[in-house]
Amino acid sequence: MPFSSLGLSAPLLRAINERGYLAPTAVQSAAIPEILRQRDVQGCAQTGSGKTAAFALPLLQMLMAAHTEAPRRTRALILVHTRELAAQVGETIRVLAQHLPERFKTAIVFGGVSINPQMMNLRGGADIVVATPGRLLDLIDHNALRLDAVATLVLDEADRLLDLGFSEELARILALLPARRQTLFFSATFPPAVQALADSLLRDPARIDIVADPADRPDITQRAIAVDAHRRTQLLRHLIAQQGWERALVFVATKYAAEQVADKLRRAGLDAEPFHGMLSQGKRDQVLEDFKARRVQVVVSTDLAGRGIDIAQLPVVVNFDLPRSSVDYVHRIGRTGRAGECGLALSFVTADSEAHFQLIEKRQGAKVPREQIKGFEPVQIVPMATLAANDTTGAPSNGGIKGKRPSKKDKLRAAAQEKP
Ligand code: AMP
Repeated sequence: MPFSSLGLSAPLLRAINERGYLAPTAVQSAAIPEILRQRDVQGCAQTGSGKTAAFALPLLQMLMAAHTEAPRRTRALILVHTRELAAQVGETIRVLAQHLPERFKTAIVFGGVSINPQMMNLRGGADIVVATPGRLLDLIDHNALRLDAVATLVLDEADRLLDLGFSEELARILALLPARRQTLFFSATFPPAVQALADSLLRDPARIDIVADPADRPDITQRAIAVDAHRRTQLLRHLIAQQGWERALVFVATKYAAEQVADKLRRAGLDAEPFHGMLSQGKRDQVLEDFKARRVQVVVSTDLAGRGIDIAQLPVVVNFDLPRSSVDYVHRIGRTGRAGECGLALSFVTADSEAHFQLIEKRQGAKVPREQIKGFEPVQIVPMATLAANDTTGAPSNGGIKGKRPSKKDKLRAAAQEKP
């Protein structure tokens, strides 16, 4: 089905064409007509499926239709969980809106930077606001913004919003929105807490489940390599050299590990940079830009900072440390194999994290054979209990990350995932 049959206007089709999108992705084909019909949508779509354009295109079309000369009021609110994702969504909207006859103003607001420029930018209003929840509330508290004219609310990567503990902020924001509105709810996963939120927000939604269609899954090969914990950096260097990866995104458990692994790689002559929440915004932007421009070969990132990164043709994601939850696993590996490209997701599995990886496999409903790489065969022994229990309860709830006790959030998350 071509884009032209989805009911989008000529200026949008022109922008799509210039962006080089040849045909709509599955989520776009399914969601765009429903959104244009003003229906609520519950979309289960992986990162990389093209869901940003799936909501941005009809949103822009609806704004055009409802455009008046009255002072600008915020008609569309898009909630995201990180500043990187906010910037990315804002950029997609800017590009797709560029040929529209009306100039829509999109404000992108997120925390971690001074609030003043964002307040200045909101003077005179904004048609579309892309926001992280905390900063949005700050701006509302400063009277910089009102939500009483919002006609469409988008929750993007809703599972991440809840995972990051934004539920209180969300409740406050929802209370400020008009009850009569359209709500578009996108999430890569629907554990019970996320489904409960969707059920409370959506009225007779069109349900779009893209993950269920195997043909449309991002083409990601999952591999797992058994290795001793202390040899992982060496193995990573070996693989980068041997496999000739031009770029790799490597996930670790802590900011310290991000610094340490990046440092070791740099000392081995690789262009590697750490990426985590303690870096300044300027530094984070710079690392992403350098990575996209291929000036940096390896980015070593924590989960928080790694979410929402969209880098076309990222060939490989490495789980140097395993993620804490299978939800995180889905998000991490979704950073490769984006929009029809194929990708590789590689996990290092140590004796300590074997049980946890089994749990992730179980939740994924997939078995990933453990490989060994010549010269890096593990000598540390997987505890017998793990081997015997295999996929039962032997897994540590802290993600197999040594010396780290599960936080309250981990426990809540684990409890939510345990529910049938
Ligand atoms: P998203 O899932 O929105 O993060 O999009 C993932 C990537 O797919 C982005 O780089 C988009 O620019 C790209 N993309 C979105 N829609 C299409 C399309 N119809 N054809 C090709 N690429 C697309």
